Amino acid sequence: MEKVPQYIKKRISLNQTFFYMKNLFKTYNVKTVCENAICPNIFECFEKKYVSFMILGNICTRNCKFCGVGKGNPQEIDNQEPERIAEIVKILEMKYVVITSVTRDDLPDGGAIQFKKVVNEIRKKSPNTKIEILIPDFKGNLSSLETIFESKPDIISHNIETVKSLYPIIRPKSNYEISLKVLSDIKKNGFITKSGFMVGLGEREDEIFILMEDILKTGCDILVVGQYLKPDKNGYEVKRFYNELFFKEIEEYGKKIGFKYVFAGIFYRTSYLIV
Ligand code: SF4
Repeated sequence: MEKVPQYIKKRISLNQTFFYMKNLFKTYNVKTVCENAICPNIFECFEKKYVSFMILGNICTRNCKFCGVGKGNPQEIDNQEPERIAEIVKILEMKYVVITSVTRDDLPDGGAIQFKKVVNEIRKKSPNTKIEILIPDFKGNLSSLETIFESKPDIISHNIETVKSLYPIIRPKSNYEISLKVLSDIKKNGFITKSGFMVGLGEREDEIFILMEDILKTGCDILVVGQYLKPDKNGYEVKRFYNELFFKEIEEYGKKIGFKYVFAGIFYRTSYLIV
């Protein structure tokens, strides 16, 4: 077990805005990935009224080892969810919002229609808000992806999460090639594309750079790389803590090989305040 270095410290700020945000989400019965995935940036993001909504319930049908979201039998689709999320975006006067979901392999469309409904509702109520959707792989289903494209978000993200060799351990129900194909399909349809992964899950250093090259080949524009941190005491153990110098190296390499933007740092997450 790696000892957590001193430099991995995040400020805890239990201020009024934080509680206001939490109450708002509770009152409107909406889920956020910030709370459900136990994100270390939650105090910082909530303080700035920034949030990443998680649609289609808070139970995921996959069992990725890095993730703090609950696993098991998924919930019913909530038909009022799109409207309630749009209402919150309006109340908070959000300039930028991220919508993501648990993976719903039980649904024929993987939840794509619900994504589209959420985007449409936000557009109706807050036409100037930029919308990023962070999608699952929909098992590579093209018709689900087409539904996503029809909703015309400003950015479409799909996370690769880890290097290819770790997929059987870290993402046993997912497929590296399918995820790369999803990124290619997003780009081919003309969208700004973003992807991210975490380091510290047991990968070799050279695999990180190969992964970056694989992602770039899909045409992906924006790359986000962060340090994996255990979401709670039962989480998968961190295999290595990288320092900021290493993240700088990742950033430089990413820019050198051709990404338009690279954001790499200990606490960087795909939905972090970066775009
Ligand atoms: S980084 Fe993303 S998931 Fe984490 S608190 Fe910020 S908005 Fe939420």
